[in-house]
Formats: sequence, C-alpha cells, structure tokens
Amino acid sequence: MNNLELWQSVLAQMQFHISKANFATWFQNTEIISKNSEKIIISVPNAFSKEWLSNKYNKLILKTLHDIDDSIKELEFVIKPQDANGAPKNVLPKTIDGINSTSSSNTQRQEEAQLRFEEFKINKDTNLNPRYTFTSFVVGSFNELAHAAALAVADSPGFTYNPLFIYGGTGLGKTHLIQAIGNKISDEQKKKKVKYISSEKFVSGIVSAIRTNSMEAFKASLAPIDVLILDDIQFIAGKNKSQEEFFHVFNSLYEKNKQIILSSDRPPNAIAELEERLKSRFEGGMIADVSLPDYETRLVILKTKLQEKNMNLPEEVLDYIATNVKKNIRELEGALNKILICDKLNQELNIEAVKKLLKGFIFSPFDVANYKKIIETVAKFYNLEEKNLFDPTRRKEIVKPRQVAMFLLRKELKYSFPAIARKFGGKDHTTAIYAYKKILQENEENNKLTEELNLIKQKIYSG
Ligand code: ADP
Ligand code: MG
Repeated sequence: MNNLELWQSVLAQMQFHISKANFATWFQNTEIISKNSEKIIISVPNAFSKEWLSNKYNKLILKTLHDIDDSIKELEFVIKPQDANGAPKNVLPKTIDGINSTSSSNTQRQEEAQLRFEEFKINKDTNLNPRYTFTSFVVGSFNELAHAAALAVADSPGFTYNPLFIYGGTGLGKTHLIQAIGNKISDEQKKKKVKYISSEKFVSGIVSAIRTNSMEAFKASLAPIDVLILDDIQFIAGKNKSQEEFFHVFNSLYEKNKQIILSSDRPPNAIAELEERLKSRFEGGMIADVSLPDYETRLVILKTKLQEKNMNLPEEVLDYIATNVKKNIRELEGALNKILICDKLNQELNIEAVKKLLKGFIFSPFDVANYKKIIETVAKFYNLEEKNLFDPTRRKEIVKPRQVAMFLLRKELKYSFPAIARKFGGKDHTTAIYAYKKILQENEENNKLTEELNLIKQKIYSG
C-alpha cells in the first residue's frame, strides 16, 4: 500500500468516527508525506489544523493507522502551506497562512492588515459583516450540531432545514454562525438575495410601517429575499402586532421555499409570550444549540484569533486566558484583545501583568452565582415575578420553577437543605430535599428540563 492509499483508507475510517462537518474542517488538504519504519509524517495546511489534529485526533488516527499497519507507532504533523495554485477552497483564510511566511516585510503586513480592515465593512445590500465566515468559526463539541446544520443550509438554502433555529447564551457565536451562512450563500450563489436583520430593527420596521400605513410596501420589500436571517428573535415575544405581521411574512417566504434563519437566546418552547402558531412554525425546521466551549476549544479559539491577526503570545499567557476566561467567546476575545494592545505597546507581559490586566474578565463561580442572581434568573426564565417563587401554592407553573431554584441553590452554591428551607418561608427542610431529588432525577430523564437548566445556568454565569 502506498502512502496515498494508506491515507485514503485512514480517511475512510475517520468518517465513521466524527461528524461530516468536523471531518471536512480538520482533514481537508491533509496527506502523508513520509513514512519510515515506525513513524508517519502527515502534512496539514495550517497551524490551526495541526493543533486540533494533534490534540484531539492523534490517538484515533494512530490507532487507525496501527490497525492497518502495526509497525506504525508514531505520528507527526507538519504544516505545509498551500501554494497559490493549490490554494484550497473552503479551508482557512489566507491570513492564517501569513503567519508562517517569514518573507513578508513590515510594510507589507501593514498593508495586509489595512486590506483586511477594508474587507470587513458591512455589506450594504445584505447587512452582513464579511468577518463572520465559516472559515473563521471554530468547531467543537459545544457547537458541532449547529455548525453542521448551518453548513447544510448554506449548501442548499430553502431545501434542507427550514427554518433553521439556532439558540444559546450570549457571546457564544450565534450571530457569527448565522451570518456565516449568509456570507457563504452570497459568495457562492450570487443571484440569491440574502438579508440579515436584527429582530429589533425588524420590529421597529413593522411598527413604523403600521404607523405610516405602509405595511404592504414593507412586505413587498421583503418579498424578493431568498434568505432571510433574523437575529435574536426572542425580541419579538410579547409584541403582538409584530408577531402577527411576522407570521404572514414567514408564511409567504416559506411557501416559496425561501430560507429562513433565526437565532434566539432560548429554544422556541421556552420563549414566553411567543404566539403558539409562531412557536410551531419555528419548531417545524431544525433547532440546534450552541453552548460553552471547554478549555481545549477555548485555547484553539484564542490561537485562531491570533493567527487571523498575525500575532503571537507566549503559551503560558494563552493558557492563563483559556483557563480563566470562561464566560463566553466574546469575553475570551475581549480578554485577548486587551492583552494584545499591551503587547503592541511593548509592555512586558509576564503572568502577573496578565492577571492584573484580566481582572475584569475573570469570575469565580461564587462571584457570579449568588442567591439573588439565581432567584432573579429563574423567575425571569419562567416569566414569573421573583415573589411568585415564594408563593405557598401548589400551582404547577410555580412549583416547578420553585423546585428549580431550590435545586440550583443546592447544586451551584452548596446551600444546606435547612438553609434553603428557611429562604422559602421556613418550610420543612424535607421539602427542599424532595425538590432537589426530583429535579435531579428529572434532569436525567427529561431532555427539555436539562435544556432549561443549561440555559438558566448559562444566564446565571453570564454575569
Ligand atoms: P452571540 O450572537 O451568540 O451573542 P457572537 O456571534 O456575536 O455571539 O460571537 C461573539 C464573538 O465571539 C464574535 O466576535 C465571534 O466572532 C466570536 N465567536 C463566537 N463563536 C466563535 C467560534 N466558534 N469561533 C470563532 N469565533 C467565535
Ligand atoms: Mg448575537
């Protein structure tokens, strides 16, 4: 078996183990470039793939190789930048390769930076920010499904999942992902008319159309759109007139197989005051969530952002940021930018300095999740007033949220059961134990509750 055949059969095996989207992301443009008795050297297109493959897939690849040829005992990944002709489509932006090119002079770099800056102007027709692409979007288990669904929609808008509904806490990449779909479609299918609108703008558009008696004109302006992207759709909840008009807009686009893409901070069934008929429309397509990245992925995200900027930082600094800034990806980026500014100013960056710089970004769970925050968040999530949680009632709409609040006080803050009981009006502490056990058990059996708990926790920890 030659190297090419060997690698082909490894790739064929890998497809069984990982998702299609991840496969495409990590294995595109890889090949075996040398093989001696025990060691295989695999070339990858950039540092980003190298990092990910050697951290995440090293074992699996080695095992697969070893199964085919048991003399193979070791793997090494080397970066082989793509030449201009062989530049792969659909892999990583050119800027990422730039980091390896030692030839580029300073002025050239500045020009490149300038160029990239120009490129990032928001497109007036689509409202899309060209910065948000699939290539700059890091995929991990925390957003794998959403990413795969987004790619599928980008490849055949209107015909795979309609609508596509992406939800998750703030700063976790919803806007990035849904804009990436729009950018990919605009790039590849020039005839398609893509429009990105924040729900806030959308609602104010509807409101002013109603006020000026120009609803028909407003609708007509949406009619030619092939791909409508509405960000933060939870904003429409409770705005009845807007919901009604949106329902008609939705239907007329949907009937014509136009793609609708929505994002929200929670799944449709958890958006209070959302009309039933809209809820069921939203649930009619694909719903996928984005959650929090783990340490390894946070590190990959930091490195990706550095490469995009053609910059570098010591490993221990990156480790410190990835270990400590956990709130969301936006914060992670913010922390990195803060450090980079000081780096540019040539300030010395030892760990002590970094710690000081990042003070505002770092929370211990105990700083953020306090009693008040939990009560406030649970009440808000279930659309109740805080005092409702303490009502001595057996009404289902109250009992469950109350149990969730008790559960979180125990789980997140390690409150004792008697202390929880005291907070809830001196109830017998067996009530608190019962609540805790009930939610614990239901959490294992009921996906909807698990989803709710995750969202509530995300909200609690997002400050
Ligand atoms: P959301 O809309 O969920 O609040 P955004 O899409 O605005 O979050 O993301 C916040 C920031 O984090 C953006 O700058 C975005 O580019 C970055 N980001 C989020 N997710 C990713 C990801 N998976 N890979 C790379 N950058 C990401
Ligand atoms: Mg957003």
